[in-house]
Amino acid sequence: MVAFEEAQTRVLAAVPAPGVETVLLSQAPGRVLADQIRSPIDLPSFDNSAMDGYAVRAADVALAKLTSPARLRLAGKVAAGEVFMGELAAGTCVRLFTGSPLPPGADAVVMQEDTHIDSAMPGDVMILTPASLGENVRVRGGDVKQGAMLAEAGAVLSPGRIGLLAAAGFGSLRVGRRPVVGLVATGSELIEPGMPLAPGRIYESNRAALSALMERVGAVPKTFPLVADTLDGTGQALSEAFNQCDAVVTSGGVSVGEMDFLKPALEQISGRLEFWKVAMKPGRPFAFGRYQGKLLFGLPGNPVSALVTFLLLVRPALLRWQGATDVSLPAHPGVLAEALANPGERRHFMRVKVDPTGNVQLAGLQASHVLSSLAAANGLVDVPPQTTLAAGSAVTVFRWEC
Ligand code: AMP
Ligand code: MG
Repeated sequence: MVAFEEAQTRVLAAVPAPGVETVLLSQAPGRVLADQIRSPIDLPSFDNSAMDGYAVRAADVALAKLTSPARLRLAGKVAAGEVFMGELAAGTCVRLFTGSPLPPGADAVVMQEDTHIDSAMPGDVMILTPASLGENVRVRGGDVKQGAMLAEAGAVLSPGRIGLLAAAGFGSLRVGRRPVVGLVATGSELIEPGMPLAPGRIYESNRAALSALMERVGAVPKTFPLVADTLDGTGQALSEAFNQCDAVVTSGGVSVGEMDFLKPALEQISGRLEFWKVAMKPGRPFAFGRYQGKLLFGLPGNPVSALVTFLLLVRPALLRWQGATDVSLPAHPGVLAEALANPGERRHFMRVKVDPTGNVQLAGLQASHVLSSLAAANGLVDVPPQTTLAAGSAVTVFRWEC
């Protein structure tokens, strides 16, 4: 049995260097950026107006008041996307809209609401308030300076980051290639959901949940047909999946029973078992192996064990495969609303529900076949062996909805 950290380290060490491909910006959210990116331009790239109003010289309107407005001659109009030809002369103003470039010579914008045009004198604008230098002006480089870091290599691209990169002019990006991961469920008792149930049989539930978790981290799941508990059938299913995928995730058949064929099947097809059994709960029988440079993650069949080992041991590997720097589950502080007791010898990753204030409760029964508490949970708390964490304790919650 290997320690949990050792299992994590060994799995990550086995992950191949990321392949890189170029994708359109629209395909980039959730992908892992391959290169550090600096801005080729200032943002904004020119001084522009934050308001609909009038470009002025602040000195011309320094004494403006509602009762004695400054009168400026209207020298032109600049719609967004246009530029003003020439320089703003003293005593004049230019009509601007949000985003219009500031004409040279102007140093402030008076918003439309602080102006008045007398219909008898449509060529003049009455300015009703003074403007300070730079007022309502979005200055060139005020958001991002040319050369500034826009995104780090290894970052998972969020919609906000994509927006920033689009604003800096990037139409495509180099990102880590997404691993294609085969999903193989073993167990003669398993029936496809949607088919009639039979005595002694159960519906297969791991592939659907694991597939959803894989998609969230950018991997490409490929679901294979159910596999009965025979040595040859399991070996054939493994080699079929390895032929089509970069890695294979199996569920079931990794325990000590005589119907557990995953490890002998891997050997039968000349794969190699790297380690088996991890000191964690749920998920002890987790197996990790290799086949022709590809990786095998052998998850226990119990649905909770399968999902928890996936989150803690497979998910990091799939992210690293794409070049991600941060591969752990997002950690959030929380406070226990009830005690969490682990009398056992292995670390127990308990399913919890954390609310927006950080209040942490058990999500339900913790046995490894209990799916209802898995569905209710939004995080895990790592309770060390032979430890009771008292109500009121500060804990780290590993979130996994995201
Ligand atoms: P195993 O790891 O094959 O010994 O399976 C442990 C338990 O999980 C047994 O109760 C199995 O019936 C159940 N199980 C195994 N695989 C699945 C699956 N894909 N979906 C739902 N339950 C499963
Ligand atoms: Mg089984």
